[in-house]
This record gives sequence, structure tokens and C-alpha cells, in this order.
Amino acid sequence: MYEVTLIPGDGIGPEITESTRQVIEATGINIKWHMVNAGLNVYENTGVLVPNDLYESLSKNKVALKGPITTPIGSGFRSINVMLRKKYDLYANIRPVKYISGIHSPYKNVDLVIFRENTEGLYAGIEEKINDEQYKSIKIITKKASTRIIHSAFKYASDHNKEKVTVVHKANILKLSDGLFLNTAREISKEYPNIKLEEVIVDNMCMQLVINPSRFEVIVTMNLYGDILSDLCAGLVGGLGVVPGANMGDHMAIFEAVHGSAPDIAGKNIANPTALILSGSMMLDYLGEKEKAKSIVNAVNTVIGNGQWITADLGGTATTKEYTNAIIDLIK
Ligand code: NAD
Repeated sequence: MYEVTLIPGDGIGPEITESTRQVIEATGINIKWHMVNAGLNVYENTGVLVPNDLYESLSKNKVALKGPITTPIGSGFRSINVMLRKKYDLYANIRPVKYISGIHSPYKNVDLVIFRENTEGLYAGIEEKINDEQYKSIKIITKKASTRIIHSAFKYASDHNKEKVTVVHKANILKLSDGLFLNTAREISKEYPNIKLEEVIVDNMCMQLVINPSRFEVIVTMNLYGDILSDLCAGLVGGLGVVPGANMGDHMAIFEAVHGSAPDIAGKNIANPTALILSGSMMLDYLGEKEKAKSIVNAVNTVIGNGQWITADLGGTATTKEYTNAIIDLIK
């Protein structure tokens, strides 16, 4: 039996985590869920953002499925998502972006994986007031963090027979910090002679992705660029509702969708749970349950391909629950 921490989160989080839990259980896997919440909902009810129970559960289970958590904009508390990634050193944010047949999109051949550095960059959260009209933010890039995310990307490319890793940077302007990241990629690429290193400046990368995304296989980049490129890539394959993700460290993994808490559609039973369901499939794969992981992907592909039970973001009329049930029926 596996023990997994389940964090429902805010906004659409409780709806899509419930869908995902049901889909995972339909595979027949034996999981004991430790449900512990954190975030805005919890804060409003208890005055605590992250209860100790959550830290205890994560430290014990070392695997979690997490719904999105709301972060106030401009003021208020700092992101709990970022805090968890840093606290548990979940340095690799891995986001596979793959076109699912049936989704309306001009791009039918997208199949790439983004490796986003997850612990530093501008997300180090070092901001300072100089005076009322001047503030500064500091971007931290270290050799250690750059090395391990770039290694992860190359190892993935090597394990999956990919020919190329694309490093995305702005080292023409940020010569020292982005320069370090780029030079580290050049060094590490020498350990993988069969994999080509491609270097692309981030602004050009946005254009290249829109013109011809199918030419990319594995993308490795710093924290903020990875965040922005992930949403861009999600837009290529049908939107945020379909792109999963994993926050991986050496000793813990938290699986969550790329998207946020979508407060505009929360509580309406219309959110698309696909991104979190596919994150759940990544989790089963991580746990070594390859067949069960694949059965989820196959069911998602079939239901979306069929088109009868798809949610509004993909042009359908099905509710979150109807879509979830269609997947569960296929798995069973
Ligand atoms: P968002 O991803 O929540 O939503 C952007 C748009 O995409 C919205 O129109 C939303 O309705 C739509 N959308 C997102 N997920 C969807 C789904 N599953 N099905 C259908 N439509 C979906 O981004 P935002 O509005 O910028 O952020 C809202 C909150 O989420 C903010 O507080 C932000 O900080 C937080 N956030 C959390 C995480 C996380 O927990 N990892 C990630 C990103 C944003």
C-alpha cells in the first residue's frame, strides 16, 4: 500500500483533486490518502497558512498530489507553492506538453518536456525597497542549482532517446547570472555526446515555439522563464487545463498541474481536471506503477479524442464530474 499526501488547495483545487483521486482509485491501486490542506481557504478559517500536519505528512510520505493554491497579488503572504518547493528542495519542475488528439489546435505535433529550475532565480523572493519610488528584486543563479536541473534534463533526454536539449536564457543581457546557467549547460552537454545542445534566447524562444513547436524535445531553463514558457506551451495544446507537472527533488516529489486556482470558474463543476489527472498518472509512474499510469493516459486520450464528454475550455459542454466519470468508466 502506498501512502500519499493529498492537498486539495484553493479555487478549483478541491474539485479537480477529488476527480483525480477517483480516477487513480479506479486503476485498482491501493493508496492511503493523507488529506491535509493549506492555502487561502485554510488561512481564512484558522489563521494558519500551512498547518504543521502538512509538514509532518509530507516528511513521512515523501509523495504528494497537490491542487493549486492561491497567492495574493501585489501584497499579502508569499507563495506557499514556492515555499514548499524551496523547503523540500524540489529543484526540478518537470512539465510534459503533449498534443492530445481531438483538441482544437493548429499544432498537432507538439511533444516536448520543460525542465524548469524550481528553487532560485527571481523566485528567491529577495526584494527590497530603496525608497517610495524605487524597489529592487535580486535574481539568484548558482552553479549547484543550475547543474542539477541541467543534468536532470540531459538524463531525461538520454533515457528517452531524445536528440536535443534546448537551453533557454538571456545571457546576452544578464551576462553573469544567465551566463553561468548557459556555461553550465555547455559543460554538462559534453557528458552527453549523443545529445545536441541548442542555445536559444528567451524572447526568440517564444517566437520559435509559436512558429514551430514540434522542433523542440527537451527544454531546460531558469525559474521565471520556465514559468512563462510553460503557460505559452499550454496554450499551444489546448490551454492550461491539460498540462501536468511534477516538482521533483532527490527525496520527495509533489505532483501538480501547471495551472493555478482559477478563481473565475471555482465551485461551478466546469473546471477541466485533465492536467491534475495526468499529474496523477505521472505520480503512479514515479511510484513504479507503469501499467496503471498508462491506463489513465489511455483513458484521457480516448475520452478527449471521442469529444462527447469534454469540458468547456476544450469546446465541450460536460461538467467536471461527467468528464471524470467517462474516464473512470473506461479504466474500469
Ligand atoms: P490560473 O491558471 O488559475 O487561470 C488562468 C486562466 O486559465 C483562467 O481563465 C482559468 O479559468 C483558466 N484555467 C486554469 N486552469 C483551468 C482548468 N483546469 N480548467 C479550465 N480552465 C482553467 O492563473 P491565474 O488566474 O493567473 O492565477 C490564479 C491563482 O492561482 C493566483 O493566486 C496564482 O498565484 C495561483 N497559482 C497557483 C499555482 C500553483 O498552485 N502551483 C500556479 C499558478 C498560479
